[in-house]
Amino acid sequence: MVTPKKDKRTTAEWLFLLLFYPAVLMFYVIYKYPHWVLPEGADLKTFHLVGKSPGFWYSTLYTLIVCGIALWVLIANKNRYQRSKKKNPLSKYQRAKFTSILFVQLIGFYFVPYILPALNQDGGFFNDPGKLGAKSAHVYVYPAFQSWGVGIYLFIVIPVAVWFFGKRYCSWFCSCGNLSETIGVLPWGSKWVRLHTPRGKTAQKLEVMQIYVLCFSVIFGLLLFFDGIALFSSKNLISVVQSTQDLIIDFFFGAIVGIGAYPILGTRIWCRYGCPLAQGMKLFGKFSKSRFAVQPNQNCKGLGLCTQACPMGIDVASYAHIEKKPIEVKFGLSETPCIGCGGCIDVCPVDALQFVPIKGNQLAIISSEAESQSFTDLEST
Ligand code: SF4
Ligand code: SF4
Ligand code: SF4
Repeated sequence: MVTPKKDKRTTAEWLFLLLFYPAVLMFYVIYKYPHWVLPEGADLKTFHLVGKSPGFWYSTLYTLIVCGIALWVLIANKNRYQRSKKKNPLSKYQRAKFTSILFVQLIGFYFVPYILPALNQDGGFFNDPGKLGAKSAHVYVYPAFQSWGVGIYLFIVIPVAVWFFGKRYCSWFCSCGNLSETIGVLPWGSKWVRLHTPRGKTAQKLEVMQIYVLCFSVIFGLLLFFDGIALFSSKNLISVVQSTQDLIIDFFFGAIVGIGAYPILGTRIWCRYGCPLAQGMKLFGKFSKSRFAVQPNQNCKGLGLCTQACPMGIDVASYAHIEKKPIEVKFGLSETPCIGCGGCIDVCPVDALQFVPIKGNQLAIISSEAESQSFTDLEST
């Protein structure tokens, strides 16, 4: 088994880290708590640049990074998970995934929420109102209790998607996941995933934290819902819970740890330990028996590269071999927090892993030769 080498960070990486943390912290303080840094009564437009709010610039930068990397992966057409210098072309699965990331981020998470409304606002495009913009918060689940649209999306559309595609929403669609997937294929990012993703039993046990965040979000959502129809709760209680959510979950866990921990704990800390939507998907997955899994085959040589490539800290190799003797134990959403990113499959030099659709309790195994066909098959099941 290949053991990960100790990380030797380069000077450029240290420089990046030294600038990165204060920048993330400063941006989020300004974004979430502008009055901490502004004098009493000051206009929020102080933070605007060329008439556009910090929220707009944050999303522009975020979208540029995600779409820029996705485009680079598609144009370069190289398997970014492979460890060898000579790389195979991008698999059809990864091509479809990065195409989805590119368009969903550009249209769904940028053009629709930030460009379209600004084109119709009073005073023109470069005249944002004096607020700092809202961050898409659907992953916190509680907005489903405030809006029918978000409710239908979270409680109907996503469970149906989980039934068909497992948690691939997290690696193909979600805005937070789009950043993790794209950073995760850059040289530094893949090193952070390989060397710093928490693995082992304790790291897995700690994933229980996500259940508490989900409970908090649902209770908060119910408080908001009942407050809306004036049945229960006081404004004070709501605002205390809102502040707790804003400070501890959104600001500290989602932003500072969620993004700031990339270089220290890999790219999916928020997705494994925080995101309530992920826990919801896991629960839906148990109920609906999500219909996709990862299946090892007899080719496995026990190299362990798949475990190192998994951003969700899953010990993929333990499903593929015991003391280098291949075993064939499939795993999916019921057993693991797998998000279907395909990294373990693409990193394996001997094609020992593949996605398989689950039909009822039966597995329909797709041969590795038919890998290019497998994605189409999966989509049509
Ligand atoms: S776990 Fe949550 S935040 Fe992460 S990609 Fe999935 S839905 Fe998005
Ligand atoms: S599945 Fe591939 S990468 Fe994983 S242990 Fe087996 S040979 Fe190594
Ligand atoms: S097990 Fe494989 S497909 Fe699932 S999250 Fe890990 S690397 Fe991605």
